[in-house]
Amino acid sequence: MKQSYHYLIVGGGIIGSSIAMALSEQGATKIGVVDCDLTGKWGSSERNAGGVRASWGTQVNIDLSKASIAFYESVSTEVGFQQKGYLWLYEASAWPQVLKRTDLQREAGLNVELLSPGMITQKFPFLDRLEDIHGATFSPQDGLINPNLLKEYYRSHTSGSKVDWIDHQVIESITVDAGVHSIQTREVQSESEVEAFLVSGALPDEQRLTRIKAKVLINAAGCWAPQLAEMYGKEIPSKPLRRQVVVMHCQALDLSDFGMMVDASGLYFHHEAGNILAGYAVSSEKPGYAFEYEGQDYFMKEIWPRLVKRSSGFERLKLIGGWAGLYAVSPDKSAIIGAVSGLDNVYEAHSFSGHGVMQSYAVGRGLAELILKGQYQSLDLGGLSGERFTQGDLIEETLDI
Ligand SMILES: Cc1cc2nc3c(=O)[nH]c(=O)nc-3n(C[C@H](O)[C@H](O)[C@H](O)COP(=O)(O)OP(=O)(O)OC[C@H]3O[C@@H](n4cnc5c(N)ncnc54)[C@H](O)[C@@H]3O)c2cc1C
Repeated sequence: MKQSYHYLIVGGGIIGSSIAMALSEQGATKIGVVDCDLTGKWGSSERNAGGVRASWGTQVNIDLSKASIAFYESVSTEVGFQQKGYLWLYEASAWPQVLKRTDLQREAGLNVELLSPGMITQKFPFLDRLEDIHGATFSPQDGLINPNLLKEYYRSHTSGSKVDWIDHQVIESITVDAGVHSIQTREVQSESEVEAFLVSGALPDEQRLTRIKAKVLINAAGCWAPQLAEMYGKEIPSKPLRRQVVVMHCQALDLSDFGMMVDASGLYFHHEAGNILAGYAVSSEKPGYAFEYEGQDYFMKEIWPRLVKRSSGFERLKLIGGWAGLYAVSPDKSAIIGAVSGLDNVYEAHSFSGHGVMQSYAVGRGLAELILKGQYQSLDLGGLSGERFTQGDLIEETLDI
């Protein structure tokens, strides 16, 4: 490990990795990425559902995903991107808002079809219980990606300049002296120390200290970004929220021809390597670094009843496994990206509220432009700056799951 960098990214998840690739592609040198666990065992990038869609309810979220999708299309084999579409089912009460959003999406150049219940059954014959469904949207260019392959793609495409991937270091403190950030880290030596830090905030042994200097610091620490921000005296208004997913086997149905399906209840599901992956956000979930997976109880209470309400094919399902991961949720469910106000050379990209994988490419490219060229060039992401929460200029995203 070098002791000094021009650009130091904290967090080597999908966002930090994308920023590293973009910085190097745009000509930056002396880039370091520091993480307490580069395998990302507890990070959100290894625990998500792999959904990719441009069909959002706000312009900037549409733009970020649309630009990212154009990139994923160009490397689809390497990152396992399959454009099999997103289907969203809606009850009648939601329909006026669906029509408004569809107008916005179509104006942004997206192909979004409106389906009646009869058309839904034609395209998705296994959905044979649609009595309470008024209609659906179907966006064929959306789909599913392999997040691990995408992260590895970013990490391995930094040929413009070598990036140092600094593993097993947690950030303990940050100080600024004459425009240079001095980052004190402690080494973690075991998986249990990583877990203790990321789940309970416990720092490893204070004997194992390192000091890294950086001219530019980038906070890409996912759900842990608020703790990092505290070290440079800033508050981030986001919260970590547990989200669980299950993997099931269904003998009666093969969903491999279909992409992501989102029920009117908020349940989502898709084919996953011969099985079915499904998730549902429980609204009573309390913020915190909670990773407990509730297995059969969660499946029986939240998943199976919602699936069986839509298809007789789901009457017999075998639960195979599942896991819990964290969403970093901002107050308006849109990401926080940009320069940190009031500080020189500190940038941030976090709080993706469940859409970090699908937007990662355009976020990395945009932030690298801002850092290296002083302004966004390909897409204006200025509205996503953290200052919007003090200025009251929120980007309320309503199409979250
Ligand atoms: C169940 C679930 C389903 C999801 N489904 C989707 C989906 O379908 N599509 C989609 O686009 N998104 C989805 N998401 C969201 C997506 O996974 C996240 O938005 C994205 O992974 C965020 O990436 P990140 O790099 O910001 O964070 P992370 O991957 O969490 O990376 C942050 C890294 O920072 C490191 N770190 C933090 N603090 C420190 C510190 N002080 N010192 C050293 N290292 C530190 C951590 O070890 C971690 O590796 C889902 C998330 C979950 C949990």
